[in-house]
Amino acid sequence: MSELLQNGRFKSERKEMVELIRSRGVKDENLLKAMLKVPRHLFVNELFIGRAYEDSALPIGMSQTISQPYTVAVMTEALEVKKGSKILEIGTGSGYQAAILAEMGAKVYTIERYVELLNSARKNLEKLGYQVVSKCGDGTIGWSEFAPYDGIIVTAAAPDVPQPLLDQLADGGILVIPIGDIDTQNLHVIKKFKDKFDTRVIFGFRFVPLIGKMGWQGNG
Ligand code: SAH
Repeated sequence: MSELLQNGRFKSERKEMVELIRSRGVKDENLLKAMLKVPRHLFVNELFIGRAYEDSALPIGMSQTISQPYTVAVMTEALEVKKGSKILEIGTGSGYQAAILAEMGAKVYTIERYVELLNSARKNLEKLGYQVVSKCGDGTIGWSEFAPYDGIIVTAAAPDVPQPLLDQLADGGILVIPIGDIDTQNLHVIKKFKDKFDTRVIFGFRFVPLIGKMGWQGNG
């Protein structure tokens, strides 16, 4: 199926989703335009395709979830993405967040710890024509090869801010990361100025855990 046809499906549902996000205070027009365009239903398990435009997280396999659309919007707005911004995403999952960033004109790098999820995300991104650089691995240590980044977005929750991610931010760069315990977290929006950091907190989110060297300890 062509990209056009895929975008044609669920058009009114997608518009409703974006209007809800707008009504909840998200203002970045470039972001809202991207959310209107990217076919979220291609990034969810076929079993949940009818629910792809609900404002909820949905399972994507390996006990992981695609984030709720409102959460994607809040995090992306906080990143202050501009055309050509270099963005690192930790936790590719379905690839939906990466697609939104690419649609906004960012140069996207993304890391996922489950190869199964990464393979399916890569297929979806490729099918839609998004050029995203990705690898399988532990994102808690960042991706130093391509640093520094204008923005780093972590889509899983950590107990503390991993130092390598702060180190890999450009001057003026922004790190968006959920911090908290396993059940609830707050979004930390951390802006780097020279070697100082300015943190703003947005309360009340729930993410799957960030598992790795500088995150929660886990197996697999
Ligand atoms: N951004 C994704 C959301 C996926 S949920 C989307 O748009 O669908 C968060 C993802 O983070 C999960 O797929 C999980 O496997 C991954 N993850 C957890 N810890 C990680 C780590 N240390 N490095 C890379 N990915 C990690």
